[in-house]
Amino acid sequence: MEQTLVILKPSAIHRGLTGKIIGRFQDKGLIITGMKMMQLDETILREHYAHLVEKPFFPFILDSMMATPVIVMCLKGIDAVETVRLMTGATNGRKALPGTIRGDFSMSGQENIVHASDSVESAKIELNRFFKPEEIFDYTPSDLSFFYSPDAN
Ligand code: ADP
Repeated sequence: MEQTLVILKPSAIHRGLTGKIIGRFQDKGLIITGMKMMQLDETILREHYAHLVEKPFFPFILDSMMATPVIVMCLKGIDAVETVRLMTGATNGRKALPGTIRGDFSMSGQENIVHASDSVESAKIELNRFFKPEEIFDYTPSDLSFFYSPDAN
């Protein structure tokens, strides 16, 4: 199974949406294999958003992402990376489809509630960035047979 990184951004923390969002992932059948609260700093954000550091809005990203601690999560499932991105929706909350997290909870291109890894490759790098190996747990929920068929489809 794949594992992917989700960050519940300060916009989710400020607005008290964390329970609802974590609940959506659990309702979907994704397995939480890591979860903690942490305060991000400029060093980790420059690394995490390296593709955006030259953008004029990057200082706003820094302020926004350091405004409160965040919750980082590792979610596991078959095709977890793509599934979580689909649940997350388009970057700009105003363009994100209703039914997605951003589509349901955000009116903004920046204050868009969650981050989710965009590929299997970046998920591995990002999980390594935010979690120590011992903070990700390997266990099997007892009711997994109700989430997937025996041939894993
Ligand atoms: P995504 O988070 O959907 O993978 P990006 O990697 O392009 O999107 O952007 C990372 C984050 O930077 C976005 O989630 C958003 O918070 C912020 N961001 C992206 N584009 C803009 C923009 N034009 N103005 C303000 N913030 C932006």
